Amino acid sequence: MNYRHAFHAGNFADVLKHVVLARIVDYLNAKSAPWSYLDTHAGVGVYDLAGGEAERTGEWRNGVGRLVGRRLGAAAETLLAPWRAVLAEFQTPDGALTRYPGSPEIVRRLARQDDRLRLCELHPKDRQSLAAALGRDERAKVVEIDGWTALGAWLPPRERRGLVLVDPPFEQPGELARMAERFLAAHRVWPTGVYALWYPVKDPAAIRELTGPLIAAGVGKLLRVELMVREPSDPRLLSGSGLVIANPPWTLADELRSGLPDLAAALAQSAGARAAVETLAP
Ligand code: SAM
Repeated sequence: MNYRHAFHAGNFADVLKHVVLARIVDYLNAKSAPWSYLDTHAGVGVYDLAGGEAERTGEWRNGVGRLVGRRLGAAAETLLAPWRAVLAEFQTPDGALTRYPGSPEIVRRLARQDDRLRLCELHPKDRQSLAAALGRDERAKVVEIDGWTALGAWLPPRERRGLVLVDPPFEQPGELARMAERFLAAHRVWPTGVYALWYPVKDPAAIRELTGPLIAAGVGKLLRVELMVREPSDPRLLSGSGLVIANPPWTLADELRSGLPDLAAALAQSAGARAAVETLAP
């Protein structure tokens, strides 16, 4: 386990993932019944942008760094609003951002009294940092468990509504195929949950290893959202990222179609930057 998310926190891929994540939680909050959140690969919760790893790569400057203090068009801002609301809690009075909230912290900040978070983090040091970031929040439980095991064992949640984020580090070959296989098993036991499966785009053709088995299995209500910051001409480079969303809130696709082009333009690193929203299964 060499991957450390601290080097990448707040980069363009985090922005897409976290904007969509916060928007989905906002939709879940529209109904009063409590929901449950499972984060299979949680990370440390809060990342220091001002020092250490994040500063060494500077990736965040081309991600969240481009959005702080800048307003996009109305459709994009509607989409970004829940994520921006969490970011605002981290900004200094003059608007600067020196710490960046990762997925567990974003969801925790949007969660209500009776909502529940289960967070898997296998790296012992990261697990400790995550537990420290969460403090004494009794709604959230951090577990040092393989996220893939949790995905197979902890569903359905007792609330019967909620969201699962699957965000592995893609350190090992075959991770897209594994994601498809583990998602399908989880979906069989809990077909009504909302699932967000994050994937990197280096070689666009490889994404079929994830989407192909899902379509072949006949899973309904599948959306794919992708944001490229450049043309993916070099398969060694992360040129974009995407999410496959199962059971998306019903107006999310339209909202993404209206708001994401503006976000893609803001995050563009060269020609070829674009956003795509595709219904994989209606
Ligand atoms: N979801 C986080 C966010 O958006 O802020 C980022 C997570 S990062 C991409 C992946 C994390 O998964 C790393 O912190 C890594 O230590 C952890 N990890 C790696 N393999 C794991 C496994 N099998 N089960 C649980 N966590 C794992």
